[in-house]
Amino acid sequence: MGFQAVRGTTDLLPDEVARWSAVEHTARRLSRLYGYREIRTPIIEEAGLFLRSVGETTDIIQKEMFRFEDRGGHDLVLRPEATASVVRAYLEHHLHKTEGFAKLFYLGPMFRAERPQAGRFRQFHQFGVEAIGSGSAWVDVEAILLCAQILRACGLPAALPSQPTGAAQAGVAGATVWLASMGCRADQKRSAEALRKRLSPHRAKLCKECQARFDKNVFRVLDCKNPSCRAIAWETPGSPFLLCDACAAHFDEVRRGVREAGVAFDDTKVFARGLDYYTRTVFEVRVQGLGAQDAVAAGGRYDHLVEELGGPPLGAVGFAAGIERLLMALKQGAAEAPSPARRGVYLAVAQAALLGDGFRLVHRLRERGVAALMDYDGKSLKAQLREADKLGCRLVAILGEAERTQGAMTLKDLEQGSQQTVALDAFVEEAAKQAKATCH
Ligand code: ATP
Ligand code: MG
Repeated sequence: MGFQAVRGTTDLLPDEVARWSAVEHTARRLSRLYGYREIRTPIIEEAGLFLRSVGETTDIIQKEMFRFEDRGGHDLVLRPEATASVVRAYLEHHLHKTEGFAKLFYLGPMFRAERPQAGRFRQFHQFGVEAIGSGSAWVDVEAILLCAQILRACGLPAALPSQPTGAAQAGVAGATVWLASMGCRADQKRSAEALRKRLSPHRAKLCKECQARFDKNVFRVLDCKNPSCRAIAWETPGSPFLLCDACAAHFDEVRRGVREAGVAFDDTKVFARGLDYYTRTVFEVRVQGLGAQDAVAAGGRYDHLVEELGGPPLGAVGFAAGIERLLMALKQGAAEAPSPARRGVYLAVAQAALLGDGFRLVHRLRERGVAALMDYDGKSLKAQLREADKLGCRLVAILGEAERTQGAMTLKDLEQGSQQTVALDAFVEEAAKQAKATCH
C-alpha cells in the first residue's frame, strides 16, 4: 500500500464535492442576503492569538492545537477556529475605524488534534459569520435566524424541541436550537460560584479533567462529553447563569426577536459554550441521531474579544457551522439525492481518423460556453455511447464518414430519448441552442 491521507483528514472526490458546493453556495448566498461579506484569512496564525482569545483552560488550547515553530523560531498554529482570526484581521486593517460595524463571513478548513471518530476530524471545515461592532440584541437575533435559514435551505428541518414534527417522524433529522445567556463577566463570576456550590458534593465523581476545570473554569464541566459528568451537570434543570437586569433584558429581546421570526428554540437546556470569550447570548443547533457529536452549529456573543485583542471595547456576535456534520445530518434522514440533470454534449467519433474533426467541433462548443466531451483513445462507438450515458451528458452527436460526406449529423437527446438530424454547418449552433436550453 502506498501513501494514505493523514488520519483525521479526508479526500473529497468529485461526487462528494458536488454536495459540498451546494452547501457552500447556499451559505454564501444567504449570508449576502443578510448583508455579510466574505473574508478570507490565512490558515496559519501566531499561537498567541488563540492563547489570548480562546482561553488557556479550553480543550482547544490544552490539547487540540497543531502548534509548531517555524525556522525563524515563530510560535505558529494551524487555526483551530476562525473567530479570533477574523477579529485580528478586523483590527489589523482598521475596520473599526473605516467601517465600525462590519458583518463578515468565512468558509474554510480548521485544524484540531482531536481523536478522530464519527463527526470529529483533525481537518474539518466551518462556515461562519462574525458581526463585529454592535451590542444590539437584534444582531444576535439576525445571526440566529441566518443560521437557521442556512440549515433549513440546505435541507435540515428545524423541529420544535417539545413536539416532534412530521418531518422528524418521517425519519428526517430534526434540528433543535438551544439558546441561553451566559451573562456579563460579573454575572459569570456569580454564576460560577453558584455552580461550584451545586456541583461540589459531586466533585469526586467528575472525570479527572472536570476536577481540574472545577476551580479554573467550572462552566467547562457543562460542556464535558463524558456521560457521567453530563448526568451530574444536567441533574438540575434550567440555565445555571444568573443574569443582572441589563443582561436579562438583552436576553429577553433576543428571545422575543427569534420567537417572532418563527424559529423554535429551547431555552431550558443546561449548557455553556466551551470557549472563554463568550458573553451573553450563546446558542447551538443540535441534531437528533448524530450521537455524541450532535452539534452542527454553535455561536454566541463575545463582547470583550475585540478589546482583549488590542482594539476598542466593541460588542460582537457570530456562529460557526461544521460542514462535515451538517452533511452527516443531511445524509442520515435524506431521501436519495436526485440525480443531477443531464448536461452538455458528447461527441462520438466512428473512427479514429475523424478525431481531429471531432476535436474541432468540441472546441467550438466549449468556446460557445457549452460543456462538451469526447473520447481521445479510440474506444468503440458502443463504448463511447455508454460513456456519454455514464457521464450524464444530455446530447450525443455521432460523427462518421457517412455524416461527413452527407454533411449532416444525428443529435440524440439522452433524456428525452428523441433524435434529430442537423446539417453539419449548423451543428454547433443547434447543439449549443439545445444544450443551453436544457442544461441550466
Ligand atoms: P464539540 O462540542 O462537538 O467538540 P466545539 O464546541 O469544539 O464542538 P466549536 O468550536 O463551537 O465546536 O465549532 C463549531 C462547530 O464546528 C461544531 O458545532 C461542529 O459542527 C464543528 N466541529 C468542531 N470540531 C470539529 C471536529 N473536530 N470535526 C468536525 N467538526 C467539528
Ligand atoms: Mg470540541
